[in-house]
Amino acid sequence: MALRREAHVLLVSGSDSSGGAGIARDIETISSLGVRTCLAVTALTVQTHETVMAVHPSQPDLVADQMRAALQANNVTAIKIGMLATAEIMAGVAAVLRENPQVPAVLDPVLVSTSGRALLETDAIAAMKRDLMPFCRLVTPNLFELALLVGAEPAANESDAVRQGRKLLAAGAQALLIKGGHAAGPRSTDILLHFDQEPIRFDTPRLSVSMRGTGCMLASAIAAHLANARSLEDSVREGKLFAFKRLQKNAAGRN
Ligand code: PLP
Repeated sequence: MALRREAHVLLVSGSDSSGGAGIARDIETISSLGVRTCLAVTALTVQTHETVMAVHPSQPDLVADQMRAALQANNVTAIKIGMLATAEIMAGVAAVLRENPQVPAVLDPVLVSTSGRALLETDAIAAMKRDLMPFCRLVTPNLFELALLVGAEPAANESDAVRQGRKLLAAGAQALLIKGGHAAGPRSTDILLHFDQEPIRFDTPRLSVSMRGTGCMLASAIAAHLANARSLEDSVREGKLFAFKRLQKNAAGRN
């Protein structure tokens, strides 16, 4: 019984059979930060580390029902949203967020896998901006996702990225963390952007290692800190540090 009262992150996420991304990565991250998880599975995928072979979206009602049951069962103090697969699933998730405005949600706008497979229907992008983002405390696009979301070419430098980010905020997002992991240069800089505030920069040395599921990991770590009632800025700082240390471990072959 006492377990139910502990802080939980509700994961709204797809499975990845390889374990490199999606639910397995989310649970691994949040558990290692000492926070409990509960689940709403949005899709089953068949994947290796190189290819996505199949995507089977859940029934839309089933996703919203899983979320409501998880919220009823536990003390959910943050929600982390990853792969959504279809516009119908997204509409159901947005409805549950509207019913629970006190619970902060972090949205990792998963659009396409690294191997090039669409993980969200293209016609759902407009709905994501209009119906889902305004109900999320934070949205965490990388430079490619940001470009797709605003209908532009990927930003060539930081001021371009901030300009694109401001466009997305004007469309209704509350706050963005623009991830610079795919940019060039010796530092990896992420930018936290609020509508009426100066950008806040978080940077670490750039590691010459790539790892699947780093987007899932960062958004999950931020959600775990939000679940423990940390501020958004602190949660982002701690989340970024967690992801950096995990990548460092991977670079040293200790993963
Ligand atoms: N599969 C699932 C279920 C995901 O949630 C994601 C990303 O969030 C991916 C695949 C893609 O991960 P990657 O691009 O790191 O392969």
